[in-house]
Amino acid sequence: MFKIIFSEQFLDHQTGRYHPESPQRLTAIRDKLSNIYWNNKLQWLEPTPVNEGNALEWVSTIHDINYIERVKTIAKRGGGKLDEDTAVSAKSYDVALLAVSAWLDGVNQVLSNNQPCFILARPPGHHATVEMGMGFCLFSNAAIASNYALTQKGVKKVAILDWDVHHGNGTEDIIADNPNIIYCSLHQYPCYPGTGKETDRGFYDNVLNIPVEAGSTIREYDLYFQKKVIPFISKFEPDLLIVSAGYDANHQDPLARVSLFPQDYYTLTKHCLNITKKIVFGLEGGYHLEALAESVEQTILACLS
Ligand SMILES: [Zn+2]
Repeated sequence: MFKIIFSEQFLDHQTGRYHPESPQRLTAIRDKLSNIYWNNKLQWLEPTPVNEGNALEWVSTIHDINYIERVKTIAKRGGGKLDEDTAVSAKSYDVALLAVSAWLDGVNQVLSNNQPCFILARPPGHHATVEMGMGFCLFSNAAIASNYALTQKGVKKVAILDWDVHHGNGTEDIIADNPNIIYCSLHQYPCYPGTGKETDRGFYDNVLNIPVEAGSTIREYDLYFQKKVIPFISKFEPDLLIVSAGYDANHQDPLARVSLFPQDYYTLTKHCLNITKKIVFGLEGGYHLEALAESVEQTILACLS
């Protein structure tokens, strides 16, 4: 059985009409996965409720208390914006904490089963910095999950692979001074948010940025994986791999210009599985609903076959 962590509550993070990071992203994936002929191989799990877990505590280990309070206050007064793109609705604070809870559960699932799982949550996290949410992201799910994983038995090293088409500036910032975490990102460059230069290597050479040209296809990605990504992660011998799984490198995606197809994520996932089976896939971006849903399907199919 392949475990997917999902809650209907993730739909309650409202970003406003016409916003690409919409609740429909999750319903498109949910509906796709519910209707495939191998859906009997999927096990849907609810995340640990925020008041029964320790999501807030883990968020506080990374994010500035004033920032956390700010998100809470904006939500409490009915909603508002952190920046031009990043909305906080009445329920966003609770939903963002539940998303963190889901990522922590994902770590627990993978560590106890030695099998990959998928976190189907929103809001995404890789642009959120210590002091500020941005780029549709509120809390740094992947970095928080990494910090948490490092406190678990048998976990001394965590690798984060970020294949979202945008650079995860927040994740990189947060982990750059931690020698027990490596971060590798493939991202269209130049593109939002403008960070992710190849020369940015982290304090311990623990960051590998791979800027990708617009128009790149699986041919280029495959080469990057074989020559850079796989050697970098394999050499580190991580006890857990967290994939910031954004799907906006799809050729149909409205927010970037890389030319992957949904089936290409099958290939990328297989590359990851050759490194380790202990993989937490967590949703980041991906804004073409059909391509997004098909790409998640391909990721999970690769894990099951
Ligand atoms: Zn993205």
